[in-house]
Amino acid sequence: MKIINTLETARHIAKQVKACGNRIAFVPTMGNLHEGHLSLVRKARELADFVIVSIYVNSMQFGHNEDFDTYPKTFAADKHHLEQENVDAVFAPTEKIMYPEGQTDHTRIQLDCLDGMHCGLSRPQFFSGVATVVTKLFNIVTPDVAVFGEKDFQQLCVIKKIVHDLMMPVEIVSGPTCRDENGLALSSRNNYLTHTEKKKAAGLYALIQKVASKISAGERDYTRLSQFGIEQMQESGFVPDYFNIVSTKTLKPPSDDESSLVILAACTLNNIRLIDNMQIQID
Ligand code: AMP
Repeated sequence: MKIINTLETARHIAKQVKACGNRIAFVPTMGNLHEGHLSLVRKARELADFVIVSIYVNSMQFGHNEDFDTYPKTFAADKHHLEQENVDAVFAPTEKIMYPEGQTDHTRIQLDCLDGMHCGLSRPQFFSGVATVVTKLFNIVTPDVAVFGEKDFQQLCVIKKIVHDLMMPVEIVSGPTCRDENGLALSSRNNYLTHTEKKKAAGLYALIQKVASKISAGERDYTRLSQFGIEQMQESGFVPDYFNIVSTKTLKPPSDDESSLVILAACTLNNIRLIDNMQIQID
């Protein structure tokens, strides 16, 4: 497995792979890899001849009061996991490589689609930061296909949108959310939680499932169900950010005949941010 630390090497390797007629599958990550990330790597392995994983904690997508400085960094363990998965190359750039002139006057992808909605409301810089860094990574790695997790459903929608709108020649494939035995979606931020907190945090998915079964049973008052979700979060000891039931296509409130819905939920537990979601198909 090649460890790539420079832009030139990354570009050179990508060019060589393509010159041999091979396809590149790419999995962008922020490291501290867990089974969720590795499931995407396995999917990537099935989709192309050459798999590249990036490990880069992108400061642009973090707010000033967020956890950029404490975000877990476990490169040696990550490298070991990726070797086990037969990954061909890991691109692990530094901040200086990704933003050589800093971020002050850096071009940013401006997204309006999630402005004032869901995570876009509480983390206004987040999707623009993600879209910008993913665009940069795509320009470096030149993947044929890139794999993202449904765990971050809004992020997946944003990536699909920029690829579509900016006509990027890359196919976006998604993988389902990996969970622990209690249903808690695996996340690097779970490292901040104690054993007891993790059990409590699993209540978020249990609540989403509860609301999903109400919808499946025929309840259609989404405003009331969202309110129920918020109240239940509070009762379970979470500080709610949002609990929204929206169209999977628009991420906006569903029309009456909408059949493809997603429940999006975010909250904090002892100041640790948790997000989760569930897609629902109704008749
Ligand atoms: P991150 O390192 O958190 O930026 O995540 C890198 C990729 O892994 C993103 O596409 C995430 O959506 C995906 N991912 C994170 N957690 C999970 C999970 N529990 N199951 C599946 N994919 C995940």
